[in-house]
Amino acid sequence: MYIHFFKQRHSIWCGVLLSMMMCCVPSILEATDIWPMERESLLLAKQLQTGYPDYIQAIETDNYGSTWILLHSGERFLFDDKRSKTLNETLNAPDLQDMLAQPYCIGAVLAAPQPGEHPGRVRVEAFFQAVYGKNRKAVEANLVPVVFLGKTVSFNVQNHAAEALSRVSEELSALLVTHPAYKRYILPVNGTMAWRTIAGTKRLSTHSFGIAIDLAAQHNGYWRYRGRPGAVLDERQAFPQEVVDIFERNGFIWGGKWWEYDFMHFEYRPELVIMQERCEPNDNG
Ligand SMILES: [Zn+2]
Repeated sequence: MYIHFFKQRHSIWCGVLLSMMMCCVPSILEATDIWPMERESLLLAKQLQTGYPDYIQAIETDNYGSTWILLHSGERFLFDDKRSKTLNETLNAPDLQDMLAQPYCIGAVLAAPQPGEHPGRVRVEAFFQAVYGKNRKAVEANLVPVVFLGKTVSFNVQNHAAEALSRVSEELSALLVTHPAYKRYILPVNGTMAWRTIAGTKRLSTHSFGIAIDLAAQHNGYWRYRGRPGAVLDERQAFPQEVVDIFERNGFIWGGKWWEYDFMHFEYRPELVIMQERCEPNDNG
């Protein structure tokens, strides 16, 4: 559990208080109504199911009000472990609720993100392994060639990721005809699949699953190369919005919206771009 609902803090804290009451008054557990916190979990779980319709068979609530995700493979994931976590713990041992807790807002970056704001950077590795491949070999078996702006790259075929990248390429090709100056933000393509951990961490990068692409690494900044993350609002806003829009409408998120900015990085996360209810026009960044 990581509480980071920008718009729904009040109801979440009500949920926390109610959950505490549940611990103290066991008889309340028998109540048939769903507590607000469980209702939040259920809504987020449905969001996840919308992003992975061929993999998530059902969302179940057990007798204790906990939400579970059941995959067609038979695997089950507890949606919310209800543990209180620091920011680092959330990154290192998240549950699915943590993964969706920060809304990713599509569209222009109007304000710099705050420290710790990095929607999409919290990932449950086991879930991605279940969808895209358990290990390097299994992921490689799911890779298909995609022609991306004239260069053939490998991308994961599962969950329509490769299809989505192909559509991005078509739309970017058309954009570059009218805006050739954008090339320096897009080319060359620096890589898609690479089984590796995120620099400085033990966590697998989404490049390991073949669902991320890095573009124009020499030109597009990455916080780690500069030693520290930061607001860098001008740089975020200088990136061509049309390029970000193309990726987002095809199910990708952009690392330029993270406090730990990674301007070259786009990753396929349909569950995050399809649900914008928690975003307001000024929420980006
Ligand atoms: Zn990347």
